[in-house]
Amino acid sequence: MSLQEIQARISTAEKAAGRDAGSVHLIAVSKVQPNERVEAVLTQGHRCFGENRVQEAAGKWPGFMEQFSDIDLHLIGPLQTNKARQAVELCNAIHSVDRPKLAATLARLAQERGTCPDLFVQVNTGEEEQKAGILPADADAFIADCVKMDLPIQGLMCIPPVEEEAALHFALLAKIASRNGLTGLSMGMSSDFEKAIALGATHVRVGSAIFGDRVKPTE
Ligand SMILES: *Cc1c(COP(=O)(O)O)cnc(C)c1O
Repeated sequence: MSLQEIQARISTAEKAAGRDAGSVHLIAVSKVQPNERVEAVLTQGHRCFGENRVQEAAGKWPGFMEQFSDIDLHLIGPLQTNKARQAVELCNAIHSVDRPKLAATLARLAQERGTCPDLFVQVNTGEEEQKAGILPADADAFIADCVKMDLPIQGLMCIPPVEEEAALHFALLAKIASRNGLTGLSMGMSSDFEKAIALGATHVRVGSAIFGDRVKPTE
């Protein structure tokens, strides 16, 4: 599918949900895609991209940033504290704030640098053992702690379990965001972004539907 088709489907979903045109940001997830495919999307004028590993992002994006202006790079994968500095130097947003130690490290870096990427708290809505994210029951307290540390929390992020109805997880994430006064919702991928938009997504993370199948698996 082309970038234009995805953008058209987003517009249709915005309209169907009674949302303002342009209220949903499309993050083109470029992890493990060949550089030619990424460059083709950049050449079409798209600037917002997502990567799930700092190392891979650091290898790929500084070069593109020299070639193309105004790139808006989002880290959407798990972040180890020892990679946090590299992540805040490279990325405009981090969607995987998921534990106190990482929050404290980001707060220290924000103090030191006088600036901080936009942050999303990742919630493990499916309470899956192997998945990152704060548990729903711990989310309110964790968000409050982040706000106390002056972290710029824009909203919440989730990755629903593959076997479950995604809409239930999107609705839960929206509910947790709403009761914490947060407006950003990073949810929805290639297979379910329209459903996510219907439930209030502000950032959809779409990879394979734009770029084609990933050449090698990431996880
Ligand atoms: C890979 C990835 C995506 C994109 O997945 P697609 O199914 O290819 O759209 C979205 N979010 C996260 C966190 C990812 O790791």
